[in-house]
Formats: sequence, structure tokens, C-alpha cells
Amino acid sequence: MREIMLLKQGEMVLKGLNRRGFEEKLMGNAKRRLKKYGHFKVYTRQSATYVEPLDDDCDFEGAWEAMCKLFGVVGLSRACSCEKDKDAIVACAKEYLGDKLSAAKTFKVETKRADKSFPMNSIQLSQYVGGELDDAYPNLTAEMHDPELVVHVEVRDYEAFVHADPEEGAGGLPIGVGGRALSLLSGGIDSPVASWMIAKRGVIVDMIHFYSYPYTSPEAKEKVLDLARLLVPYTGKQCVHVVPFTKIQEELRRSCPEERFTILMRRFMMRIACRVAEKNGFSALVTGESVGQVASQTLEAMACTNAVCTVPVLRPLVGMDKEEIVRISRKIGTFETSILPYEDCCTVFTPKHPRTKPKLEELVEAEKALDIEALVEEAVAGIERVMLEL
Ligand code: ATP
Ligand code: MG
Repeated sequence: MREIMLLKQGEMVLKGLNRRGFEEKLMGNAKRRLKKYGHFKVYTRQSATYVEPLDDDCDFEGAWEAMCKLFGVVGLSRACSCEKDKDAIVACAKEYLGDKLSAAKTFKVETKRADKSFPMNSIQLSQYVGGELDDAYPNLTAEMHDPELVVHVEVRDYEAFVHADPEEGAGGLPIGVGGRALSLLSGGIDSPVASWMIAKRGVIVDMIHFYSYPYTSPEAKEKVLDLARLLVPYTGKQCVHVVPFTKIQEELRRSCPEERFTILMRRFMMRIACRVAEKNGFSALVTGESVGQVASQTLEAMACTNAVCTVPVLRPLVGMDKEEIVRISRKIGTFETSILPYEDCCTVFTPKHPRTKPKLEELVEAEKALDIEALVEEAVAGIERVMLEL
């Protein structure tokens, strides 16, 4: 018995002429993630990507976990290979899927036949294997529409595969087919989810984090890097651009009206992020904002932060409730880290009564007291880059 993995491609099968490029990306991403688990062969046939261990030292479980986080895969199954013979296929199904076959009430067999020289056609083979399993398991009844268990049989060039019960994959599109974006990552719940959602659409995502030492501690920065690290199994790798933000906050506190502090600070974050995006070839920014969640996330406030942006801002959580965001953050494994206590630069000088409906003219007026260009340039010059890889 030899076990392999079968990855079912998602929407990318709809990509027409681009499909080959998408498949190449998916296979390249799979190979990079598999490297540390041993030698695997990766190839694609008829919109399924096969992952086969090439020797006994392979860490199959580790590789399986990694493939569960591979964007571009909607479903994945473990399959068992056997000889291309009808009775070998039945024996393999009994041995490999025994528990499932004993537990189900209804089932059917579906066959795909790539080797057209196989003596039975797909329907005949499905009927034969189905009949044998029906006889062997008294609990089973054949059921063509909506059975509990579907036993898949694939007859390929050199061997046959048997599998059942695909698991849900990470979905989305392969990383790298969607360009590059820069995500504003805080230590909260929302921004890791927002980054993940954009990466899921095939976008290479780098992170930018604003850090206000000594108002925020080195632990707060570590926490943000930890969150970014948790996303690496999905993204493959990413650079975190850590921006020194203390001077800008002190300048704002010294010279600007307190109730406008947060929104003025957010405008600086956006200016700096846009500068970094332009310099490094990112086509968009990503934030974890959601309409009405806090004072700086009203439509009026978002318009005021957008006003300084020179690249588009993607806000994938914009219409989501906190509960929905928390659900995703638990699913992707960032929640427990996000809720660790920490200070964010946003919380350090939070005004008691922030304006929920800021007026752009008033903000522009308040900013006249500052040398915006010099502050932005200085912050960009002080950026520390942390590279995170698989
Ligand atoms: P989060 O849970 O992502 O921290 P939040 O609900 O706390 O979001 P805000 O603090 O208003 O909301 O921040 C809104 C968005 O601004 C964040 O989702 C994030 O994209 C960005 N942001 C906030 N603080 C920082 C920071 N220190 N560094 C980088 N980006 C930040
Ligand atoms: Mg926050």
C-alpha cells in the first residue's frame, strides 16, 4: 500500500487560457512547501494535482498539513495506490477505506479512467467494485443521488488509486497569480484576518507595522511578528516592514487637537504605507477596517484616510461583523495570539472623545503645523525589514 495526496483545484479551473500558468504556480508553491517534509513528486492531470512521496522517509502527515493550507486547493484527499486490476482495486478499497465502508449506510463508486486500454470502461468498473463492496458490507446500500460515502477509483497509466471523503482545502487562488499588496498589520484580531483574505486571492502580501518604542514595548512588536509568522504556512514567505512611529505621534500630540489625533495618525500611516508600496512595487494596501467598528472606521473617517492615499486601499473585512472576523481568526490560528494583552501605537494616545465625523478641511488645517514630507521621509528611512520564510 502506498499513500499519495490528491489536490482538487478550485476556481482556477475556470481560467481558460491562463489556466496552465495557474497550475504551474500551484505546483511550484506546493513543491516549496513540501521541501522540508522529504522528496515528493508533484504533477497535474485533469485539474487534479497529485503529490506522491518518493521514499519512505517522507513526513506524510507534515506534508498533508502543509497542503491543507495551500491556496488554490478546494479539496484534498488521501488516496491509496494499487495494481491496475479489478480485484486488486476491490481489495485496496476494503483495506484502505474499511472503517468508512463499515460506518456508512449508503454509498456509490465513481470511476475515472485515464488509461483507455483498461479492459473495463468506467461504468463497468464502478458496477463491479460497487457490487463487491455491497456484498462484503451488509450495512451498505448503493445510492446514486447523494450517498453518504463516495468511493473514487482512478485508473491511471501505471497504477490505480482509491480514495474517499475529501477534506476542505484552503480555497482561493495560488499565491503569486494576483500581484502584490502591502498589509497594515497591528497586533489586533482584524488585520491578520484581512491579510489572510487577500493572500487567499493569490496576492503576495508583505506587512507593514508601525511601532512606537518606548510607548509600546519590544514584546508588542514581537507579538506582531509572531502573528505574521502564523500566516507564513499560507503565504509561503513575507517581509514585515517595521516603521518607527514615535516621532510622528509625539509631533501630533504636541501640535494637533486631541480629538483628531487618531485620524491624523491614520493619515500618516497611510502616507508612509503608500510610500513603501510605491517604492517596492505593491499595487494596493490592505487594512483590517470594518464600517463603524471604531471612530476611525466610519465612512467619513475612511474618506479622510483615503484622501492621502496614492494606491488603492483594500478593506476585505469592511462589511463583516466582529463575530465573523473572530471565526476566521480562530480557523486560521491567529486568534489566541491576537488576544494576548499588548499596547498598540493606536491605543497609546487614544483621545477620550474621538471625532466620528471628521472634516477633511479641518484635518488639512491641523496638519499645516507639521512638516509632513520630512516626517514621512524620516520614518521611511528608519524602516527595519524582517524576512519570514517557511
Ligand atoms: P486590528 O484588530 O487589526 O488591530 P482594530 O479594530 O484594532 O484593528 P484600528 O486600531 O482602528 O482597528 O486599526 C485599523 C487598521 O489599521 C488595522 O486593522 C490595521 O490594518 C491598521 N493598523 C492599526 N494599527 C496599526 C499598526 N500599529 N501598524 C500597522 N497597521 C496598523
Ligand atoms: Mg488595532
